[in-house]
Amino acid sequence: MPLLPGAATLGVLGGGQLGRMFVHAAQALGYRCVVLDPDAASPAGAVAQDHLKADYLDAAALEELARRCDAITTEFENVPARALEQLARSRVVAPGASAVAICQDRAREKAHFDASGVACAPYAVLRSSADLAAVPDALLPGILKTARLGYDGKGQRRVADRAQLAAAFDELGRVDCVLEQMLPLALELSVLVVRGAGGEVVTYPVQQNLHRDGILAVTEVPAPDVDAALQAQARRSAAAIATGMGYVGVLCVEFFVLKDGRLVVNEMAPRPHNSGHYTMNACDLSQFEMQVRAMAGLPLREPRLHSPVVMLNLLGDLWFDGAGRERAPDWAGVLALPGAELHLYGKAQARAGRKMGHLNVIGATAEEARQQARRACAILGLPDTW
Ligand code: ATP
Ligand code: MG
Repeated sequence: MPLLPGAATLGVLGGGQLGRMFVHAAQALGYRCVVLDPDAASPAGAVAQDHLKADYLDAAALEELARRCDAITTEFENVPARALEQLARSRVVAPGASAVAICQDRAREKAHFDASGVACAPYAVLRSSADLAAVPDALLPGILKTARLGYDGKGQRRVADRAQLAAAFDELGRVDCVLEQMLPLALELSVLVVRGAGGEVVTYPVQQNLHRDGILAVTEVPAPDVDAALQAQARRSAAAIATGMGYVGVLCVEFFVLKDGRLVVNEMAPRPHNSGHYTMNACDLSQFEMQVRAMAGLPLREPRLHSPVVMLNLLGDLWFDGAGRERAPDWAGVLALPGAELHLYGKAQARAGRKMGHLNVIGATAEEARQQARRACAILGLPDTW
């Protein structure tokens, strides 16, 4: 039985911007929302009907969340699997603890890619000095990544040789790591896949992504530099990965396209994703509404991209001038541009590198979207090359 709009309450673990946009989508359909997040100033807590301010492992708070909600989701990757397990004893939880646990650990994630028949970078799991000594030469130069808790390029070291590898393993505290061969990238893309509890799967068009300093900067859809066959392969691969772990909800799978044209999976996030924010204005169904539909057991239909789009990530850096003085970005100038749609996350304090919002620029053609996005970059002081 689906949880029908207007008659159910949906819970979210985590109160960041992804939770906030989820709440907006759920409320638009008439659901009530409860957010669990220890931070009194959380962006999602500020818009939900209720905000439980407690730790994610606070058993009493989890019980309260389960009591008030019909189904519960999560908006951040590192939610403790134990919290999801406790909630799942009495409520629908999507995505489930076992799938989230795979996504939280790069070693398990890569094993799952292997099991799904989707190629990833050659790698080795490092848990000990013996593993370090056994690393094959072919993996160097490489990137050493902590198995857990990495994001935005944090918890990673590029290593050219064995000496650097050993030093980097020490520097990262000798926690479990994955060493990946450094691959020659032509470009990066990602795919949103949505799977319902009944096993039905839909995918969104391929997103072409540009990162700056390890943080997503620009997403463009349709992907200008990826041919149709490779796009179809990426969507099929993402669907196989989701199905193989019995996933329910929105999953974002990141890929590399190598200089020789091969597609290689990088990693995945068990939730709506920054690179999927374009769906809010360029598709008939946003990634957040899809998350609502999947967890509520509502129909998933194939989403349709109705406009070419460029998404610009808005980091806290935009709130400071070259001399480090605080300034207000020229939103009025940006909003005068045809097709420009602004989303700010309601964070009080801007900091360099902090995700403050994003701007979706849609156009009748890809060229028009790009042109207006370049104008927005000029107004905001963002680099206009991507
Ligand atoms: P996020 O959570 O922001 O997506 P992350 O910290 O989890 O990032 P990754 O996505 O694993 O990190 O890597 C960050 C970036 O480093 C990639 O987007 C890519 O540009 C580069 N990178 C990662 N792995 C490799 C590789 N094996 N070869 C070449 N470049 C890589
Ligand atoms: Mg990544």
